[in-house]
Amino acid sequence: MSETIPHQCDVLVAGAGAAGLAAAHAFAAQGRKVIVVGKVETHLAGRTVALFEGSLRFFRALKLWKACEKHASPMEGIRLIDDTGSIFPTQPKEFRAREIDLDAFGQNIENNVLVAELAEAARKHPRITLIEGLLDGFELNYSGARARLGTGEWIDAKFIVAGEGRNSQARQVAGITVKTWTYPQVALTVLLKHEKPHHNISTEWHKRSGPFTFVPLQGREGAPHRSSMVWLVAPREAVRLQALAPEELASEIQDQSHDRFGHIELDGPVGAFPMGALKTDKVTGLRLALIGESAHLFPPIGAQGLNLTLRDIASLVDCLENVDLDEADVISRALASYERDRARDIGFRVNGIDVLNRSLLIHALPVDFARAFALNFFSAFGPLRRALMREGVTPHGPTPKLMRQRPPVRRPTPAQS
Ligand SMILES: Cc1cc2nc3c(=O)[nH]c(=O)nc-3n(C[C@H](O)[C@H](O)[C@H](O)COP(=O)(O)OP(=O)(O)OC[C@H]3O[C@@H](n4cnc5c(N)ncnc54)[C@H](O)[C@@H]3O)c2cc1C
Repeated sequence: MSETIPHQCDVLVAGAGAAGLAAAHAFAAQGRKVIVVGKVETHLAGRTVALFEGSLRFFRALKLWKACEKHASPMEGIRLIDDTGSIFPTQPKEFRAREIDLDAFGQNIENNVLVAELAEAARKHPRITLIEGLLDGFELNYSGARARLGTGEWIDAKFIVAGEGRNSQARQVAGITVKTWTYPQVALTVLLKHEKPHHNISTEWHKRSGPFTFVPLQGREGAPHRSSMVWLVAPREAVRLQALAPEELASEIQDQSHDRFGHIELDGPVGAFPMGALKTDKVTGLRLALIGESAHLFPPIGAQGLNLTLRDIASLVDCLENVDLDEADVISRALASYERDRARDIGFRVNGIDVLNRSLLIHALPVDFARAFALNFFSAFGPLRRALMREGVTPHGPTPKLMRQRPPVRRPTPAQS
């Protein structure tokens, strides 16, 4: 073991994506000595994450949001437009954060910026060591856990957080069963500059191939109106669109958006992400817990992925608060409540998004009718409508400590209103 790499820690976090880095900060804030290992990837084309109120509270509580805030754009409203051509069309629906006493549902930020800021803060944190490499072996024992770096060196830990994404090796070593499936869809992502303002409203067209979404992004010099786009299309269509010249693709995007934002130009490279889903039979093992895409994966509908992950982390940190990590039995008892808490939340999102996504892909009148009925029903009745909005932003169930602190609501001054 080289002198610069410590070989012992309380918590070893596998994976240095948004999930792993956020977990490292949360455990360090609990006073644990943390080692986080993974490649810090900041070249994800066109990807942003819309972080809802609970996630913003999480980052604020850990004093991580200040550095990100200047890059983020608020989402004050969400507009849903039925563009399926169904014979049961629904009128466009608009939901406002004000209806549930929030200034904004959340903030949209580039993935790359968020990961870079979390990594930078980790490098400076006195209780976190960030090792930019890969792990290629795990051992989980009653007396302790350890993981092997690609260099052959071992790191001893009392507890392992598996945040290395969908192909998690730690999950496999822990004997956790995983069920995966795919969808005939690819998510095309790109940042856009457009002529007309988004007014901080996210616009989602529901098309037969899946959602086509513009999420507000902060403007910059020379490009005052910007959004990030996520467009779910059939794999063959994704190949065709990616082969277009930038101005041709921009023109197709403008057509698909029915010219709502006027002239459109691409503002960066185009990303393509095949759609799949994943769920596991449990989220804990001996001295180990899964977080993020190691534990759940689903298409980007309703911006739930990283928001759910941050709830994993906040819940895990609560469960292990004041737990002596030397004691395997004590850890196991504490993890039972993590298992219970996550089963509900993860099951609800993975299954709910699966149903929603399939309801767009299946061309059948009864399905079209059920989708239109459900949307009209939920949006027409005030209490149901607000419950639906709250569920997306700060889900029901016990709120973990890192997500409890509400910022004061900024009411408009008489001059503004
Ligand atoms: C198009 C699209 C749009 C999305 N929009 C939203 C949104 O608006 N809101 C939202 O909440 N979510 C959204 N999501 C989901 C969100 O982006 C993901 O949930 C999140 O980025 C996953 O982060 P992660 O850290 O769990 O996984 P990853 O980003 O996959 O990170 C895993 C990390 O582990 C590392 N790793 C892998 N193997 C090893 C190993 N052996 N040893 C060490 N490290 C390893 C990898 O290098 C990587 O750094 C979206 C997803 C897509 C595809």
